[in-house]
Amino acid sequence: MAKLINGKEISEQVKQETRVRTDALKEKGITVTLAVVQVGQDPASCVYVRNKKRACEACGIVSRSVELPEETTMDELMKVVRELNADPSVNGILVQLPLPPQLDESAVIRAIDPEKDVDGFHPESVGKLSLGLPGFESCTPAGVIQLLRRSGVECEGKECVIVGRSNIVGKPMGMMMLRENATVTIAHSRTRNLKEVCRRADILIIAIGKARFITEEYIKPGAVVIDCGINRDENGKLCGDTDFDRVSEIAGAITPVPGGVGPMTVAMLMKNCVDSVQI
Ligand code: NDP
Repeated sequence: MAKLINGKEISEQVKQETRVRTDALKEKGITVTLAVVQVGQDPASCVYVRNKKRACEACGIVSRSVELPEETTMDELMKVVRELNADPSVNGILVQLPLPPQLDESAVIRAIDPEKDVDGFHPESVGKLSLGLPGFESCTPAGVIQLLRRSGVECEGKECVIVGRSNIVGKPMGMMMLRENATVTIAHSRTRNLKEVCRRADILIIAIGKARFITEEYIKPGAVVIDCGINRDENGKLCGDTDFDRVSEIAGAITPVPGGVGPMTVAMLMKNCVDSVQI
């Protein structure tokens, strides 16, 4: 039976460390403020925004909410972003995605001051990650790295297969695992023989958005399996991209959903907010 990698517990450690840093900054008279911009009331986004605000409270970070109506225009949203960029009391800016269809997500991300880009999505942040320079890192893959390190998983020289090549998870995950000296393969929907490719992995990281897609046939016995997926199954139950019950019979270690990568994403956002004071 696989060892459970407990993201809830590890995320608490990261948040506590962040709290220690914000307390120290407060003693110097510095407050960390995160501006959270939400356009419309997408139910999933509301849950994510609420979780982020709660985490801010726990970490001693001030969260400033900017709620805009569903029909907000590009000009209106860009104006808000420019104002937050110019506001010296705001350290980090987060625009909750997805945005309604009339808004150009990529243009909005590019408009955020790279020094306040706590989501790590700005091209400058992505470029720095590729070049191995310090900068903001996308929170989900950064959270996976913390899970691996803090669970004592050695990455150096290991075969790592990442399934999914999105800009926010799969691609930055690949850069981060390279930095950890793993041998990295990034698979996607056009990959041939996906099962065989996955079975090469000592560390298998999955971010595809398909409920319980990865079964035991994709797993090398003893592999570390990290599941980034957040899905609802046919009964509305939260589940990952991995068939947890079947995969945990054969894997060496595995993250659950919920309670694995999800809480780490928010914890790394908090860390980025405090980094924004120093970066
Ligand atoms: P995207 O939809 O942007 O990307 C999905 C990727 O998976 C694509 O690269 C796609 O390939 C690949 N893919 C889809 N189907 C298959 C398949 N059958 N075989 C192989 N590859 C496949 O998703 P995200 O990266 O944004 O998110 C992935 C999952 O992670 C989702 O469940 C999402 O909810 C979750 N997530 C969780 C977060 C957290 O906080 N824990 C944060 C962000 C995401 P191609 O490029 O060829 O289309």
